[in-house]
Amino acid sequence: MDLTPKKIIEKANEYIINEQHLNLIKDAFEYAKKKHINQFRKSGEPYLIHPIAVAKILVEYQFGPDTIISGLLHDVLEDTDTEHEEISKKFGEDVANIVEGVTKITQLNFTSKAKAIAENHQKMILAMTEDLRVIIVKLADRLHNMRTIEFMPEEKRIMKCRETMEIFVPLAHRLGMYRMKAELEDIAYKHLDREGYVTISKNLANTKEQRNKDLIVVINDITKFLDQETIKHDIKGRIKNIYSIAKKMKQKNKNFEEIFDLLALRIIVDKIEDCYQVLGIIHHNFKPIPKRFKDYIAIPKINMYQSLHTTILTENGKIFEVQIRTLEMDRVAEIGIAAHWAYKEGKSKQIEQKEIAGVLKWYGDIIEQAKDRDSLANDDFLINIKEDLTANIFVFTPNGDVIMLPKGATPIDFAYRIHSQVGERCVGAIVNNKMVPLDFPLDTGDICNIRTSKTSSGPSDSWLKIAKTAQARSKIRTFINKRDRDLLIEEGRKKIEEVLPEYELGKKLEDSDVKKYYNTNEIYDLESLLYNIGKNNISARSALNKLSGKAEIKQDEATLIEQLNKSAKAKQINIHGILVDGLNNSKIKLSNCCNPIPGDPITGFVTKGMGIAVHRETCSNILKSDSNRLIPVYWSSSNTNQKYRVHLKILTFKRNNMVVDIINTISAQGANISNINTSSKNSENIIKVGLDVLNLNQLDKLMTKIRNIEDVYQIVRVNK
Ligand code: MN
Repeated sequence: MDLTPKKIIEKANEYIINEQHLNLIKDAFEYAKKKHINQFRKSGEPYLIHPIAVAKILVEYQFGPDTIISGLLHDVLEDTDTEHEEISKKFGEDVANIVEGVTKITQLNFTSKAKAIAENHQKMILAMTEDLRVIIVKLADRLHNMRTIEFMPEEKRIMKCRETMEIFVPLAHRLGMYRMKAELEDIAYKHLDREGYVTISKNLANTKEQRNKDLIVVINDITKFLDQETIKHDIKGRIKNIYSIAKKMKQKNKNFEEIFDLLALRIIVDKIEDCYQVLGIIHHNFKPIPKRFKDYIAIPKINMYQSLHTTILTENGKIFEVQIRTLEMDRVAEIGIAAHWAYKEGKSKQIEQKEIAGVLKWYGDIIEQAKDRDSLANDDFLINIKEDLTANIFVFTPNGDVIMLPKGATPIDFAYRIHSQVGERCVGAIVNNKMVPLDFPLDTGDICNIRTSKTSSGPSDSWLKIAKTAQARSKIRTFINKRDRDLLIEEGRKKIEEVLPEYELGKKLEDSDVKKYYNTNEIYDLESLLYNIGKNNISARSALNKLSGKAEIKQDEATLIEQLNKSAKAKQINIHGILVDGLNNSKIKLSNCCNPIPGDPITGFVTKGMGIAVHRETCSNILKSDSNRLIPVYWSSSNTNQKYRVHLKILTFKRNNMVVDIINTISAQGANISNINTSSKNSENIIKVGLDVLNLNQLDKLMTKIRNIEDVYQIVRVNK
């Protein structure tokens, strides 16, 4: 039992040259020794064994002095009467914070009730946000505890192994610490499924001799081929770890004997170009197995892993996975994050921030996927992660689900992210057990509980200022618009019911009544009619006059215009004959993608700085546009002389004078042709005409006339 810092210092001295740093590590050792005196492990050994082992693991990964010191001190806050300030004074604020972070995580228990899990994840995330080294020290701590887990009582052992599989193995994986991950996995697997573990290890032992023979043959072959091309290289054979074999057997539903790529052969070369050259040589001399080639050099894995992978079949029918990489790539593959970050400690906050962002985003995903436990066993589910995380926060539901939101988001955004009904009925929020106002800015790690009420009157205009996500804002706006419209429809209904008894109609109005009497170009259903009455665009009396046939449409239009002019303070009749609610002097433009004409159902789109573009409601650009920017617009009936451009596509059979007949028909209807062109395909003519018309009515008549021309078989209005 070595209870001296000798080995740690020796190892550290391989990469830490600063004498002061080495001395500080020695001091930390003496300090831990003093603090843990008279404490013992479950195994009966002095407690000091544990922090020494943890520090050793960290030194193997070549982490910096602060991390190693934190490893030595990681248990003093929890197990001794030491204070934060004391550590901070002796070893610096960073070390004190890391030790405190590790202590907090150590007290977590991830297997308890949903709410506790949420709180635990919250603490993990906070610890990571503050300093990623907390997690690294924690991983080293966990690894040593797993190595000595035999001494724990059965029940606690199983719990720790599960927690290791679900939380710490994925963390090690994400940080690219392959060696750590494999060891944690194998120990946990051994205790969670002893039978499976024993079977695989026995099988491995029984087949070891044969495997080694096969290995020597293939290594000799490859060496020969690479030497011929004078490529400097180093070849290692490596067996997959037990758990990854077990996982593969389960995933592919295969026996041990059927798992063919137990052996990974690793070829280490000097330069990236050599990797590809070696790949070429291997593929030339062995049979590559289709679809097994992967280029992680060109596209590194999310945890920074780089390598070429291929699988080959040897002459005597053996299958090997071959990994080809440079020495630097190999280092990253083995120790992950430590390779980039470890001994630059303190100097590379930027790398650290990037790492933290990546890990946090990934961590959020993991918790979401943890519901489906099998997915934790899938290595590749991390690969598609791209978003820049620093701009986001993670907030928890009381069940421990993670909701990712932009910075500055409020409980309203959170509520709408859960469900739009939760948003609409939201009346308050409890964050970390405290009542907060709806505009409370949420932060990473908060647990947010939305209070709803069925009798809530729903969102108000002020919510639009509070909500930060586009999703919530668009849903609030839609809700408010619909509520306003419903109120106006109700208003219109009241008005029409007041005058209804004077008319023969004296019954409930139906859509069919409206359709029968109304020109659908203007108002197309009962709701719209009621809405316009409610809005005072049209009087109830004139609407009923029209419905009962007592008045001409013209009268109706006159009433409408009169009404509009009366309330014209907020309205404007534009040269295009368009009315826009509440906007004066706004620039209005008829969009030339769908070319609306009077009579077309239309909608306005508020452009960025170009005023309002008016589109047909059916325009594909409108259907896919941001609904927040749509505003109602109406055709005015006053502007009778303005003409509007439309485009027609006419399909005809070929014959003489076809085009002349069409031009004559159009002219006879009083429309101006602006352009015409024809093309033909087989026995068919395609004639495209641009023309100016007054309104939809005129266009409809014109199209009917053209359709009636002999040999015309199709006519459609097109965008251009
Ligand atoms: Mn510990």
